[in-house]
Amino acid sequence: MLETLTRGFEAARERLAGVRRLDAANVKTALAQVRRALLEADLDQPLVNDFLARVSARALGEKQATRVRDATGQLRKVSPGQHFVACCERELVALLGPGEPALEARDGVTSVLLIGLQGVGKTTLAAKLARWLQSEGKRPLLVAADLQRPAAAAQLEQLGRTLDVRVLRGAPQETPPALCARARALARNESFDALLYDSAGRLALDDALMRELEAIRHAAAPSNTLLVCDALMGRDAVNVAAAFAARIPLSGLALTKLDGDARGGAALAMRSATGVPIQFLSTGEGLDRLEPFRPEGLASRILGMGDVVGLVRDFEQVVDTQQAERAAEQMLKGQFTMEDLLGQLRALQKLGPLEDLLAKLPIPGGLRAPVDEGELGRVEAMIQSMTRAERRAPELINPSRAERIARGSGHSKADVLGLQQRFRKMRKMMGALGGNGGGGGGGLPELAGIPGLGGGDPATPLGDQGGNRQLRRQSRARARAQARNKRKSARKARRKG
Ligand code: GDP
Ligand code: MG
Repeated sequence: MLETLTRGFEAARERLAGVRRLDAANVKTALAQVRRALLEADLDQPLVNDFLARVSARALGEKQATRVRDATGQLRKVSPGQHFVACCERELVALLGPGEPALEARDGVTSVLLIGLQGVGKTTLAAKLARWLQSEGKRPLLVAADLQRPAAAAQLEQLGRTLDVRVLRGAPQETPPALCARARALARNESFDALLYDSAGRLALDDALMRELEAIRHAAAPSNTLLVCDALMGRDAVNVAAAFAARIPLSGLALTKLDGDARGGAALAMRSATGVPIQFLSTGEGLDRLEPFRPEGLASRILGMGDVVGLVRDFEQVVDTQQAERAAEQMLKGQFTMEDLLGQLRALQKLGPLEDLLAKLPIPGGLRAPVDEGELGRVEAMIQSMTRAERRAPELINPSRAERIARGSGHSKADVLGLQQRFRKMRKMMGALGGNGGGGGGGLPELAGIPGLGGGDPATPLGDQGGNRQLRRQSRARARAQARNKRKSARKARRKG
């Protein structure tokens, strides 16, 4: 996802490796790398120029903190390269705009009309949102208001079946607006509190489509109108989005197929082209490949620094939220054990493609991390051969213990010691991430170069320190909401039974 951009920012950082301070000349050299990547990712020249000018002004204008205190209280150096990355991060976040993943509800009912060209992923997104709203405790109804293609309703019905969500489809001769009005009445009578209207697209923008969408919007009176845009379409997607936005009042954008394209510059241009916030990212065909949009998360992934907050959210989907919260806190304090790691590896395996997860880890070099699915199994085998004490305090593992663990797990002593070393680095890195040093004023915990994972001037997770505190707060709030929903559905079930 967005590898072109990531490579450009990494190249820029490499240019700054070893420089003693940022100056007009070295910032210019670094920005040339960024420029090339942005243009290659299909962004317009004016937008690129504007972005580079902002980064440059920030990098040269801001007083640079040279030292910052990390979570463990140690003073760490901030390199000019890291300061430059921090400037890029702030400008990327500004460009991507505020994240507004919450959907509006009206009188307790969340309704969403999805519009966009044909094939961009509207029908798939309707089902993903139904699933998402279900997990928030809502009872959704899917409305197949694409009556252009007979196969469209069948596709939605198929998706609805997998989610156990009812799908309302048009009667013969029924128009899309009539169907939408019928859906609203049905929702009132049968207490559905979420409505997802899938609409028809066309291959290109035309007046007939716009008129149909206006009529549907009038009949459905949705509390949200989302424009679905395909990141694969590059610059075209941006033009199409601007045209939609000019004609139909939109509340938000959903960007799809971010998994499918290395360029994806559209993602960066969409917000400024439409003036509408990005709300969701779709990163795959599976119904679980939906992410509420967080500009910080996307920016730090673009910079090759991972998205720890997003990673923790993913964990919450498959593990108990209380446990996830504890794990996140431990991770961010740099206090987790091999047992935690084992638990997380098991959760990882439930989380889907490893590559997606790695992209969210703050590993220098991002996707190029030399870990594969087989590696997970090997790590698991080694941890299982450790004693309880060793898992809790891996420092205990001396050469003779390593020998025993190696024999027990069918690996070499070097493998075991390698795991121990990587684990310690990871713990240290996480600890640095969770630190309170620096605050918003540009403080960056420095990470040791991690052999085999990039080296050079390593990527710096930007210690989004306030964000981590916020993350913990949000995660607690989410746990409470989930518990509430669980109680609510248990009550409902009792009443029914
Ligand atoms: P619609 O015509 O706008 O309703 O588009 P569909 O929902 O039918 O999707 C068109 C195709 O794109 C289908 O094959 C989907 O599986 C696929 N698709 C949708 N969203 C994504 C995504 O985020 N990533 C990828 N790789 N494929 C997607
Ligand atoms: Mg469709």
